[in-house]
Amino acid sequence: MTLTITGATLHSQTVGIRIVGDTIERVGPDVVAEPGEDVIDAAGMAVMPGLVNAHTHAAMTLFRGYGDDLPLMEWLRTRIWPAEAHLTHDDVYWGTRLAIVEMLRSGTTTFWDMYWHGEAVAQACVDAGIRGVVSAVLIDQHDPSLAPQLRESAEQSLDALGGYGPLVRPALGPHAVYTVSDPSLEWIGGISADRGVPVHIHCSETEGEVAECVEASGVRPAVLLDRLGVLSERTLLAHGCWLDPHELALVAERGATVATNPVSNQKLAVGRHFPYPEAATAGVAVGLGTDGAASNNSLDLLQDAKAFALAQKFAAHDPTVAPAAEVLEIATGQRSALLGGQPIEAGAPADLVLLRTDSVELAIGDVEANTVYAATGADVDTVIVAGRVLVSGRQVADADDVVARASEHAERVRRDG
Ligand SMILES: [Zn+2]
Repeated sequence: MTLTITGATLHSQTVGIRIVGDTIERVGPDVVAEPGEDVIDAAGMAVMPGLVNAHTHAAMTLFRGYGDDLPLMEWLRTRIWPAEAHLTHDDVYWGTRLAIVEMLRSGTTTFWDMYWHGEAVAQACVDAGIRGVVSAVLIDQHDPSLAPQLRESAEQSLDALGGYGPLVRPALGPHAVYTVSDPSLEWIGGISADRGVPVHIHCSETEGEVAECVEASGVRPAVLLDRLGVLSERTLLAHGCWLDPHELALVAERGATVATNPVSNQKLAVGRHFPYPEAATAGVAVGLGTDGAASNNSLDLLQDAKAFALAQKFAAHDPTVAPAAEVLEIATGQRSALLGGQPIEAGAPADLVLLRTDSVELAIGDVEANTVYAATGADVDTVIVAGRVLVSGRQVADADDVVARASEHAERVRRDG
């Protein structure tokens, strides 16, 4: 199937983009639609690569606004974990479908997820048409009697996630060093190396978890992960707020990626922003995430892009930190080989966003700066994933049905929790 986008603005040039199957075949001012092809007239719109949400727990849309304004550990222990204990496959499926509608409508074409019932997440990705890097989650709570059985079920889940086709990439999701034992993390490192699959893990979100790690093992979390064979170019560390200079150098040397979640970090008041200028100088690969809808509470990654830029400038007392073009590269996964974002060019996957730039908010000014500082997901008009148009005129085909079904499930899990 061939689809041609005409009249789109790309780097202040008007271009056409020819998509064959799931791949961009040609880009340029001379690309025009051939008779009989599907055509999108993108006059008045800028084209950009799809956004990559590098860290979320999609189905937590079910818990949006559930226990807001509580300290992190109290929130997890008194609200989230008890409610999550009752979650079913169908709850996660519909919560994820709702998250996907929200992410697609705001320009996200790939998301890195960590949540229970990974197969429900994978099925939601397939049914909705979005790309998902879906985790086989492992939490053994440092209990040696549970660990072997939990590792076995994580491996079964990983195997199952491999069967959902090209949109779903399986990953290992050990929650964090404070919830997963050293032997299980060592096992994760081995499976990741053997199979070449990513490891998605929380790391250094709070000062308390770092202190706990130092007390228990004598070293900080990134050093511990490295010692256990978990830190590699396949590793995605969510948060990284409290990584110290030695850890940043180690993360860079191993080629691991940090997914920063500036809105979640501020809402939960974790006390420190991810030290981005230091990380960038050290050569750390960086991506941008929303975290779950219960701690953000939005999945509109463009808002996180602005929050990231502002937080970093403010923390550094330097407005030249995190300039717009760099922030867009981070938000589209182009600052990490693991996240795999690519510029719009022949041979790249056809994961594209058309942003309305003839609006009140965006008609005047530089497109890149506007996208970071002035746009929200509401300015996204069209989204294409793997060559398929999933959002057109801001509409996702079955959004109303998804909202209704997810609301039913949210009501049940919040009542039973
Ligand atoms: Zn998280």
